[in-house]
This record gives sequence, structure tokens and C-alpha cells, in this order.
Amino acid sequence: MRSQDLSAALLELQQQHRFRQRHIVETPQSCAMIIEGKRYIAFASNDYLGLANHPQLIEAAREAMLRWGVGGGASHLVAGHFAIHQEAEEALAAFCGREAALLFSSGYAANQAVITSLVGRGDAVFADKLNHASLNDACLLSRATFRRFRHNDLQQLEQLLASTPARTRLIAVDAVYSMDGDEAPLKKLQDLADKYDAWLYIDDAHGFGVLGDGRGSAVEQGLHGERLIYMATLGKAAGVAGAFVAASSQLIAWLVNTARSYIFTTAQPPALAAAVLASLRLMADEPWRRHRLQQSVSRLREGLSEVNFPLMASRTPIQPIIIGRNEQALLLAAQLKERGFWVPAIRPPTVPEGTARLRLTLSAAHTQDQLEALLDCMVQAMQP
Ligand code: PMP
Repeated sequence: MRSQDLSAALLELQQQHRFRQRHIVETPQSCAMIIEGKRYIAFASNDYLGLANHPQLIEAAREAMLRWGVGGGASHLVAGHFAIHQEAEEALAAFCGREAALLFSSGYAANQAVITSLVGRGDAVFADKLNHASLNDACLLSRATFRRFRHNDLQQLEQLLASTPARTRLIAVDAVYSMDGDEAPLKKLQDLADKYDAWLYIDDAHGFGVLGDGRGSAVEQGLHGERLIYMATLGKAAGVAGAFVAASSQLIAWLVNTARSYIFTTAQPPALAAAVLASLRLMADEPWRRHRLQQSVSRLREGLSEVNFPLMASRTPIQPIIIGRNEQALLLAAQLKERGFWVPAIRPPTVPEGTARLRLTLSAAHTQDQLEALLDCMVQAMQP
């Protein structure tokens, strides 16, 4: 893009209803937020358990900051791997029932790390078409042959596995699809991975903390094995930031030695590792958060289906309503906003053309009244 072409390109985005803007949030992450001076009930956050603003996480981070300072100061391999990072990694590995875990500053970096460390030229990576953009970017960066299969189509995946020559094969999927809320058939994927001697890499950004008693999709489905690599982000249900990979000790040692997005970046601030530890304790001690979340999911689906809104096959806190055209989705989001509800319209390229949608996300922190108010408003504003 040349500088003289920028204004025309931006105008084109506007004309296609694809121009994005950030909105200034003036209160902490929660279900009731002030955004650009106006109060909203928000159905837009990934803070599924309502922990992002929890006093125990804040206190853990505050105490850790007093003890360890603010910045990590160096990469993990140089002088930035603090005792609190180590403790959080051991706790995460135990929580997910794996030998070892490795912390990352973001899920984006974790996906890059795993994929580029395991596959390269001469190898092949097989990815669901609805995988998160960070997985796709990692696959492209790896330079492995990149084969994408139709969403959850295991037959096509098997054809591709059988017909693609490769030294190393890796299957990469989201466990919970971030824009649809549905799930990957993990057990069947593991059978295919075993049959074709492939790694199975699961990005459980939206399942960790929510599914499997909070321990995530792989634990819920009873998956184990040397070929299984589990990744989850810590900025969603865990309420903090960053991500971790849980796998065999050998795989973790390989990442520490080869993953460029781990080696060449400053360690996550140690106070965040302390907040992760507090979050894991709450996930284990307060199952009511998951129960309440599940109740809200059921109530929302019931209320929307009573008035025939088209729902996706999702039991997770991600509950999209497909609208179709970008301007229509934007209009509906604007109508809800006008009535005091913050619900994002998601448009291409984040989702396929013609599938612009309202993406409602639920949290254990939503009250029943907030949910009923949203349902009333949806019925009024959006009668199909
Ligand atoms: N994977 C999935 C499925 C995600 O939804 C996200 C974040 N939206 C990421 C990875 C990236 O994680 P992070 O925000 O920690 O970079």
C-alpha cells in the first residue's frame, strides 16, 4: 500500500461497511460498562467466568507487583523467567493433567510458537477452514504445505491426510470456534491423528475455564497422548492475559529451544502469572460460575428460539445470530446500542462473506435481569 493510496482504500472500506473503529471504554471489564460516556449492558466480552475484575485477581497481581516489580525486563531465556512464572506453569500443567506447560504473552504468539517449531518445508499442516486467524497466520509462516478442510469435515480431512506427502503432519483446530461457538470433534480428530502419525494441536481459547470442569475441552473429552498439544488463552475465562501450551515435557523443552515467538520476546509481566494462579484457584473452588453461565446460555437460547431467531449449534457462551448482510448486522447492533445493549456486529473478513452476525457472548457475571432485558429488547428491535 503506497501512502498516496491510503485515503481511497479507507474510503472503500467505509463504503463496504467494513471500516472498523475502536470505542473508548471508561469502566473496568464487566457486564455493565460505560463506553464513550453512555452506560451499557454488554454482551461482548470473553470474560466468561466474570474473573477479569475479581478482587482476588487484582490483589494477587498487586502483591506480586510489589514483590516482583512491573516489567519482566528480559526474555525468559535471558533473565525474565521468575519463580512466579514457574509456579504458574506447574499449576497450569497440573490443572490440565499434562506433564508440562509454557506461558506466552498472547495466544497469537503461542500458536506461532507451536506450529512453526514443529512443521516447516517438506511438512504439512491440516487446518479447519474456520480456525482462528492466529492459527492460519502461524500455518502460513511455517512454510509447511497448508491444507484447509471444510468446517468439521473429517472425511475431507482424511482424504487430505492420505493424499498429501509430508515428513511431519500436524492437524490444527480450534476446540470451540470463536465466531460460531460450535466445537471440533476432538476424539475423532485424535483417532485420525493417531492413524496418520500426526500431531493434534488444539486451540482451546474459548473452552478453557468453561468446559471440562474448567479444565478445558481436551480434559472433558478424555484426550491424552504424546501427540496431543493443548493451547489455551488466559485473557478470556481466566480473566488475565497471555496463553499457555500444555504438552509432554519433551515438547515443552523443544518449544523453549526453538520457538521464535517465545525466545525473542520479553517475558509476560510476573504479576500476571500471580493473577493466573489466583484465577486457577477460583476456577477450581467456584464451580457455580460455570453453572450460572450454563443456565444463562440455556435461557438465552430458549428466549431467542421462542421468537425464531436462527441460532447456531452452540452450547458455549458464544451465541451468534447470523444476519447476512453487513449493513443489516450493523443496523441491528446500532438499534440494540440505542436501547443500552452493547452487542458487536461481526463482519467479513472476520467471518465469511454474507454471514455478518451479532455475536453475543455470555458471562457468569450477567444477572438474570440483564439477560431478560436483552431478550425483551431483541424481540422488540429485531423481529425477523
Ligand atoms: N485463538 C483463538 C481461538 C482466539 O479466539 C484468540 C483471541 N481472540 C486467540 C487464539 C489469540 O489469543 P490472544 O488474544 O491471547 O492473542
